[in-house]
Amino acid sequence: MNTAATTLQTRRLIDILRRSTAFLTKNGVESARLDAEVLLANVLDMDRIQLYVQHDRPLIRDELERYRDALKRRARRMPVAYVTGRKEFMSLDFVVDERVLIPRPDTEVLVEAVCSRLAALAIDDPIVVDMGAGSGAIACAISREVPGARVLATDISGDALEVTASNVARLGLSGRVFLAQGDLFQPTVGTEFEHMDVLVSNPPYVPSRDIPSLAPEISRYEPRLALDGGPDGLDFYRRIAEGVSGRLTGRGFVALEVGDGQAAQVTEMLEQVGLIDVETTRDYSGAIRAVVGSKPGARGDADVL
Ligand code: GLN
Repeated sequence: MNTAATTLQTRRLIDILRRSTAFLTKNGVESARLDAEVLLANVLDMDRIQLYVQHDRPLIRDELERYRDALKRRARRMPVAYVTGRKEFMSLDFVVDERVLIPRPDTEVLVEAVCSRLAALAIDDPIVVDMGAGSGAIACAISREVPGARVLATDISGDALEVTASNVARLGLSGRVFLAQGDLFQPTVGTEFEHMDVLVSNPPYVPSRDIPSLAPEISRYEPRLALDGGPDGLDFYRRIAEGVSGRLTGRGFVALEVGDGQAAQVTEMLEQVGLIDVETTRDYSGAIRAVVGSKPGARGDADVL
C-alpha cells in the first residue's frame, strides 16, 4: 500500500470523524458521533452540515492538533459546552466555562412560564430578579423576550458573575440586565430591585448525597455550588419561600425551576406563604420543571382575557 496515500486518506474529514467517534465511544461518551461532529465543526469554525458537504476535505496539522486536544478533553468527560466554551439557550449564544452551570434546554420552559404569566397579567415593564443567575441565560433570555424589563442577575459567586457579565455585554443587554453579587435576597436590599414583579430562579436542587452519582460530566466539572441543594435538595426553595412574599410587588410572582419529584413540595411551600394561582409546567421530557405562583391580587387581566 502506498503510505503517502494512506496518510492522506486517513486525514480526510470523514475518516477522522469515524475514528474520533470510536475513540469517544471507547471512553464512555454516549453521544459520541454527535459530539465528534460538534467539536470538529467548532475547530473548523463551520456548521455541522458543512462536515458532510466537505467530507473529502483534508485537515491541516494545526486543525488536527486542535481537534485532538478537544477530543482528549471530551474523552475525560468534560462536557462539550466547556470544551467549545459555548452553549445555545433560547436561540441565544452564551459563553460558558467551569465557573457556571451549563444552561439546559429544560430551563427554557422556566423562561416561557415567566413570559406567559407576564403576558397574562399584561405586564410589559417588569422588575425581574434572577437569583443565582450563573451564565445569565435566564436573565438574558427574559430581557430579550421582554424588552421593557429591568433585570437584576445575582449570584453568590463572583467568578460566576464574571461569566454573566460577558454574556450581558456580548448580547448587547448592558442597559437592561444589571449584576449584583450576594446570597439570595441580600444583594437586592436597598436597591430598586428590593421589591420585584418577578423572582425567577433555577437554584441548586440536587440532594448533596446524589451529586457523586451524577454523570461525570456534571459531578466532575460543573460547579458544586450551583448543584448542591442540601440534604434533600430543597434548601433554597425553603429560603426563597420564606423571603418571597414580602418582596413581591402587588402584581408580582415567583417562578422556580425544580428537580424531578420536587414540584409537589415546592408548590406546597409557595401556597403556605400565601401565594396563589400556583401552576406547574412540564419540560420536553414530560417532567414538571417549573413552578409559578402569584401574590394574591396580582390577577390583572388574566380573568378578563
Ligand atoms: N439540571 C441540573 C442537573 O442536571 C441541576 C441544576 C440545578 O441544581 N439547578 O443535575
